[in-house]
Amino acid sequence: MRQYDAIFIGAGQAGPFLAARMAENGLKVALIERKFLGGTCVNAGCMPTKTLVASARAAYVARRTDDFGVKIGGEVSVDMSVVRKRAQTVTMDARKGLIDWLGGLENLSIIYGHARFVAADTVVVNGSELTAPRIFINVGARPVIPTFPGIEDVDYLTSTSILEMDTLPRHLAVIGGSYIGLEFAQMYRRFGSEVTVIERGARLAPREDEDISSAIRDIFAGEGIAVHTGVSEISFSRKGEDILLNADGMSRDVSHVLVATGRRPNTDDLGLETAGVETDARGYIQVNDRLETNVPGIWALGDCNGRGAFTHTSYNDFEIVAANLLDADDRKVSSRVPAYALYIDPPAWTGRDDRKGSPRDGTKRRCVQPHHVQGRPRKGTQRNAGIHEGCGGCRHQGNPGSHDSWY
Ligand SMILES: Cc1cc2nc3c(=O)[nH]c(=O)nc-3n(C[C@H](O)[C@H](O)[C@H](O)COP(=O)(O)OP(=O)(O)OC[C@H]3O[C@@H](n4cnc5c(N)ncnc54)[C@H](O)[C@@H]3O)c2cc1C
Repeated sequence: MRQYDAIFIGAGQAGPFLAARMAENGLKVALIERKFLGGTCVNAGCMPTKTLVASARAAYVARRTDDFGVKIGGEVSVDMSVVRKRAQTVTMDARKGLIDWLGGLENLSIIYGHARFVAADTVVVNGSELTAPRIFINVGARPVIPTFPGIEDVDYLTSTSILEMDTLPRHLAVIGGSYIGLEFAQMYRRFGSEVTVIERGARLAPREDEDISSAIRDIFAGEGIAVHTGVSEISFSRKGEDILLNADGMSRDVSHVLVATGRRPNTDDLGLETAGVETDARGYIQVNDRLETNVPGIWALGDCNGRGAFTHTSYNDFEIVAANLLDADDRKVSSRVPAYALYIDPPAWTGRDDRKGSPRDGTKRRCVQPHHVQGRPRKGTQRNAGIHEGCGGCRHQGNPGSHDSWY
């Protein structure tokens, strides 16, 4: 049995940074990762997708240069193998940076393999037992695949497998009209695919305010993306090389299907029951305000604790635990100000809501606007007209109530 001061399960956006802080403080640390350092964000999430969004935007702007008086001539086409390579390079550079940094730290051992609890203070990896008085779980989440009739008969894509594609789908059906589905839908439309979005809820981005959903729908309509909302029955069957999608009686021959219907925590194969760690009905590890689980000596950070679903919330979990354990500073997850973005173009982002009587409990406020007009936008301003985006809106620029218009 190998003895450590701290064990980290999963090297996502919280664990590596806390592991490094502890190692720098002279503690002997094991960082266990079953796939790639950096987790979802670096390898299958933010980094590759935002790189693809940037490629898609370049294609979109290139097709509209005439609007700006710029002539490039000829048809704009997209080389998906170059697009994919560019995204892979960003991922590989980030991953290499982590390998070099963490691999060079004294007191920190990186162990590749799947970790599972065999006791509250012990995990097994690659057949070896490791024990520590402190164990930090940072195992992230993975895509959920609902049991749609026929789904097993077709080669559906997830947000991870679609990143491996280096050809352009003729027609991509995106099942799920929320954050991840919307990003891929607009991106592939801009690459040149026909795109159909199917959403079970009554509107796109159902967790956002209604005006945001309808702004997204307008943006998508303007780009020629077909959207079907309020769909209750979805099924698939093979049709030669194609896939026949049925959605509430509507049928479409599509070449590819992306299932983007949510994510679930990677907590079902961790042996949590052996350690006595409590989860909720969906598998999220229950934590208190300091991210401690119900078992003394075990913490849960990042997406797997259900208190956030972003890189910055996972990283902030690291900051909270580091402050409490290493800096004698009392930090709590309940003090976090929620903020996030939806990376369609223009991006939709959410910050604080100071409106009285807001349906968001006075905690959040919704905004949609192109990033490059974050100054003092007003309807019909020259700045907006000059950028010629023609859509977007803004309600809050730090001064509650001062800007409340769409433009
Ligand atoms: C397509 C997509 C786009 C996204 N875009 C954004 C964005 O633009 N901005 C943003 O803020 N967030 C984005 N996210 C979300 C973001 O990627 C995650 O919130 C973030 O990566 C969560 O970090 P984490 O530390 O909780 O876990 P993860 O980054 O998921 O890392 C968990 C790690 O644990 C490992 N692991 C799991 N189980 C075990 C085990 N038993 N033993 C050993 N290792 C294990 C996994 O292999 C993984 O490497 C996106 C996600 C997706 C899917």
